[in-house]
Amino acid sequence: MDELLSIVIPAFNEEAMVEKAAATVAGVLKDAGIGYELIFVDDGSRDGTWEAITRAHARDGNVRGLGFSRNFGKDRAVFAGLSRVKGDCAAVMDCDLQHPPEKLPEMFALWEQGYEIVEGVKRDRGEESAFHRLCANGFYALISRLAGLDMKRSSDFKLMDRRVVDTLLTFPEEEVFFRGLTAFVGFRRTEVEFDVAERTAGQSKWSFRSLARYAVSSVTAFSAAPLQLATVLGVLFALAAVVTGVLYAVLGRDPSGWLVFLGVLAILGVACLLLCLGVAGYYLGRIFRQGLGRPRSIISRECGE
Ligand code: UDP
Ligand code: MG
Repeated sequence: MDELLSIVIPAFNEEAMVEKAAATVAGVLKDAGIGYELIFVDDGSRDGTWEAITRAHARDGNVRGLGFSRNFGKDRAVFAGLSRVKGDCAAVMDCDLQHPPEKLPEMFALWEQGYEIVEGVKRDRGEESAFHRLCANGFYALISRLAGLDMKRSSDFKLMDRRVVDTLLTFPEEEVFFRGLTAFVGFRRTEVEFDVAERTAGQSKWSFRSLARYAVSSVTAFSAAPLQLATVLGVLFALAAVVTGVLYAVLGRDPSGWLVFLGVLAILGVACLLLCLGVAGYYLGRIFRQGLGRPRSIISRECGE
């Protein structure tokens, strides 16, 4: 078969997984008779990930590597990898084999049938705490409401036609959000269900803080609605002021109770004002960083052609 499937694999501190992932993915694709290239993107790892990539390249010439000068984050690693793919289609998957490589031939076959995006959707979200699940559900509800993107079951495990990849690469934003942008671009799409496998080595890189930052960055990448928070709160406080005035006129004039009430209302008002300033500041920060026009990531080393 002539068609080439490129696979982009972001890797951050994955020395324990790189060679295993390379061998497993290559094995599956060889068995299925699919021509492939694997592009590992070392996202500024502090362990032996880069050495593991060079060893995988020495063993299999279809394995290539890009290394970032520091950690830039998974989404930027994915985009850097996509900018180098040579394939007619490209897949993105995690290095920890939580995205099952056995699904790749099925996804490839769907692409051959003419689908331009084949999405891996999670049948089961794997081992997650109830709290994590609650936060994830809240995030998906918010983003589907604000941005109109249905991402509830979506994952970063996807296979895309060359045209989709080229389209994604024209997006100029510095803060890229892979899952959101692939939902945004449209194209003929279909889904393949998969079960999230357990991580066999290494650790998840996501802390609650980094997930919260990811959620805020994703929502603000697709919606300006949070900026209207100020308007909504302004209306609410105006109403509260009118109601308070009426109540004061109708009810008694004992000042002590009213003082506490007015004090609380004033502090609440200031807090809301600061919150709105923070939201506006966040958007301003995005515009500022975009205006600087700095590169999204810096590649400091490469291996393989
Ligand atoms: N990853 C990355 N840069 C980062 C964090 C993670 O390239 O800053 C990679 C990581 O090596 C893995 C994938 O992104 O291949 C998913 O990360 P992880 O397994 O930690 O996330 P989880 O599966 O827990 O959502
Ligand atoms: Mg993982």
